[in-house]
Parts: sequence; C-alpha cells; structure tokens
Amino acid sequence: MKFTFLGTGCPVASAMRAGPAHLVTGSRARLLIDCGAGVSQRLVAAGERGADIDALIVTHYHSDHVVDFYQLLVSSWHQGRARPFVVHAPASVISHMRRILAAYADERELRIAHERRPSSLGLEVEFRELAAGRSIKVGDLEAEPFAVDHRPVTPAFGLILRQGKTRIVFSGDTRPASSLVEAARGASLLVCEVFVDREMVPTPGVRSAETISAVRSYHLTPRQIANTAREAEVDALALTHFVPPNADRAALVAEIRKRFRGPVIAGEDLMSIDPAARTLSFSDTHLGY
Ligand SMILES: [Zn+2]
Ligand SMILES: [Zn+2]
Repeated sequence: MKFTFLGTGCPVASAMRAGPAHLVTGSRARLLIDCGAGVSQRLVAAGERGADIDALIVTHYHSDHVVDFYQLLVSSWHQGRARPFVVHAPASVISHMRRILAAYADERELRIAHERRPSSLGLEVEFRELAAGRSIKVGDLEAEPFAVDHRPVTPAFGLILRQGKTRIVFSGDTRPASSLVEAARGASLLVCEVFVDREMVPTPGVRSAETISAVRSYHLTPRQIANTAREAEVDALALTHFVPPNADRAALVAEIRKRFRGPVIAGEDLMSIDPAARTLSFSDTHLGY
C-alpha cells in the first residue's frame, strides 16, 4: 500500500502546497481522499490519472476538501474515463455535490453533444453515504471511516486504511479526539493534519487573536499531534494539511520529536510512503526509515 500526498495545503493559496488530496494505491486499486484545489494536476504530476480512480472519499464538508470535484470529473472524462465516479461522502457533501452537478448540467449536455467522445459514462456519479464503521472495499484496499471531532462541521471522518496487515490511519480534519487515538493504536503510519499555532499571529485585516483561537480549536497543534502519536504508539507519523502552508518544517519536526520518538515526516506534495516497506520517495530522494 502506497500513500501519496497530492496536496498538503489548506484553503490558504500556496504555490508549494495544493489543496487537501491524498492517494492510496494497492496492487489493483486506487482510492482518492478529498479533492482539494489542484488535485487533477497533482495526480498527473504523480504519474496517475483521475480516469483510474476507483473511489473518491470526501472526509467532511469544508470547501478546501471538495472544491475541485467538477474539474476532476471533466478532466478524468477527457482522459478516457468510461465508468461512473463512485463518491463516498457525508450527506452534507453529497447534497453539495448534487447542487454543483445541477449547476453545470447544461455545460455537460453541451460538451457531450459537441465533443462526441466514445462514452459519457465517465461524467456520471454514484453517491454512497459515508458512515462510521461501514468499510469501503476496492480491490485489495479497505477504508474504514471513523468519526472525528471537527465541530461545528459534523460529521467529519478519519480513515483506517488497510491492505493485509498494514494499517495507515488518516486523521482527516479534527481537534484532539479519543477516537483518533483508538483508531491509530499500533498503526504502521499515522497521517495527521497540523495547525502550527506558534506561527499564527494576529494580522490586521486578516486574522484577530479570536480568529486564531477559533481555528486552532478544531485542528491539531504540534503538541497535540505528538501526544496522540505517543499515546497510540504508532510506528511512524507524517504531517499534512499544513496551516500555515509555509510553516517552518524543521522547527515543527523538532517540536514533535520532543514528545514522540518515532520517525516524524513533514509531508510534501508528491511525496509517497510505503509503510510496509518503511520507505519514502520524494523527487529524486528515496530513503528507508
Ligand atoms: Zn481542511
Ligand atoms: Zn475542515
């Protein structure tokens, strides 16, 4: 099972970090988690195609996790996709996606009529509601959603990703949650969102101390991540969903290492990790950990 960081950013526009999106690949299966800004382009950069995705899981109803859905759908169709997109998402996200599809319905009709591609099946979408404990199986991969705490956004899910005995736990967006610790217990890899509180300072016209406190309250600070990883005794920890996207990675890793002694990986767009082999690839660098 390979875990690829496609977009490690957040709503903040960043040249380095695209919007939230991660790809899980098995020997015969491809599972996409979230479809943030730039996901289609990052898939291509990773040597993958939206056309080959077996299922998309959207973890919760926040725009940064779903905003590029329509672009993904059309670009996948242009790559030759000839089967419906299967989307697993909370009811709130399904309702939003249906509204987006309705808003573009006339656009699709025109494309289908004018472009005369071999199949229009690739523009169809099958929705399935995401529920805690209801596993999604594609090929040799299994994704089990579990509830996390991202209130006031409810529901919000993390995912236990399994292939054979290997288990990756993906936090989704959450504040500290016992459900995350339980799901992550003994996992090969915990992939966690991060809110680098030390780097968030009040900025006139942008954010007040109150804003920072509100945003911090439904995310995970480095200290909270370290405590989660230590308590769950995971083999390794990787970070994603960087707020802010330009956070000092060296300082961040050092801060977490004070409380969690296992490997700590600051995720980057297009980095991939194979937790069973304990290898990491990023650009021309390949290392074992
Ligand atoms: Zn988010
Ligand atoms: Zn969120």
